[in-house]
Amino acid sequence: MASSYRHALLSVLAIWLLALWQPVNAAGIVAGNTVLARDEGGITLTLGLSEAVPFRLFTLDAPRRLLIDLGPVSLEEMPRGLERGIAEVSALRFGLFQLGESRIVLDLAVPMRVKSAVYDQGADGGGLIRIRLVPASAAEFATEASPPRYSLWRPAQLQARVEGGANLPLIVLDAGHGGLDMGAEKGEVAEKDIVLQMARVLRDTLLEDGRFRVLLTRDADVFIPLGERVEIARRAGADAFISLHADTVTLGRARGTTVFSLSQASEDQEAVTIATLENRADLVAGISVEGEDDLLTQVLLQMAYRETSALSNRFADIMAEVLWFQNDNEIKSRRMAGGFRVLRAPDTPSVLIELGFISDKNDLEKLQDPAWQQMMSETLRDALLIWLEAEAEMRGLLRN
Ligand SMILES: [Zn+2]
Repeated sequence: MASSYRHALLSVLAIWLLALWQPVNAAGIVAGNTVLARDEGGITLTLGLSEAVPFRLFTLDAPRRLLIDLGPVSLEEMPRGLERGIAEVSALRFGLFQLGESRIVLDLAVPMRVKSAVYDQGADGGGLIRIRLVPASAAEFATEASPPRYSLWRPAQLQARVEGGANLPLIVLDAGHGGLDMGAEKGEVAEKDIVLQMARVLRDTLLEDGRFRVLLTRDADVFIPLGERVEIARRAGADAFISLHADTVTLGRARGTTVFSLSQASEDQEAVTIATLENRADLVAGISVEGEDDLLTQVLLQMAYRETSALSNRFADIMAEVLWFQNDNEIKSRRMAGGFRVLRAPDTPSVLIELGFISDKNDLEKLQDPAWQQMMSETLRDALLIWLEAEAEMRGLLRN
């Protein structure tokens, strides 16, 4: 089958199912009907569904993976470890991609192409999606791999909401990771949950103070691409952008709070390691990041960075200083720079704060302690107030 024909077929399939699909909350995976099987000719993934749902699939290269987007389907019953014993699939991940859209990602150990994808109505009102993958050459895989041209099911709930009194400085709080991107994990604890909790506590603290407007890039367990987080802040006209994280680091013994600003070329190996971990988020969720930074945008962005970087550096310096001054007995604080994608808003002072490292027992305890979360959010509020004052003073000096 020619590749263009197959693409057309898959799109038609998705649209047909969209027409068929009626919004119901009950749609979910039926574990007993969900199997990944292997035979001489290839592999077949069967997804059992309690209701008919819209779906689409596509492949992406470097690394090779198959992505299956489903409409609003609960993946709670999705069996784990389906890929065990299947050499062609090195990993199988799934989760909420964004509100109303779930995603399953198969990491392919060898190049394979979609031979067919069919939907069968089951006797019990449910359905089956059967996806057949057969071996392909690396070149074939590369030609066919491409992200979908349009986003289906873009839900309105994702619209971020600004809270707080009019004309106050707008602080955008970005809880890192979310949805199928867990962030760092330690046992049952996931970074995505810790940082969402912290973002909410900080939002409440800032709103209670009454001198800020606040917007959360996500107020739910959903995946948001890194570029989209930056865009949310820019569209809203943010005065400052704070991305909250709590990573694990296997290299050395990292602990304590670290404030990062953007650096195009970081010499510090630890900063490079942490930035690489954080930038991985889009890859985890199967978003292609290649090609996003074409040469022209690079040049334009670099021009804008020069203007904003002094502002961002001052912002990061003050945040780090206040953290150090107020919290150093509690938790060690540092100031570093790294190449974080999420800090690339060319016109918004942006910092990324690693609140602590969940790989450190001491840090992990604090990150989960409501009293510590409150203390930390009050420190960050104080730091923001000091920064705003310093900026106002600076503008005054420049005017005189
Ligand atoms: Zn993180």
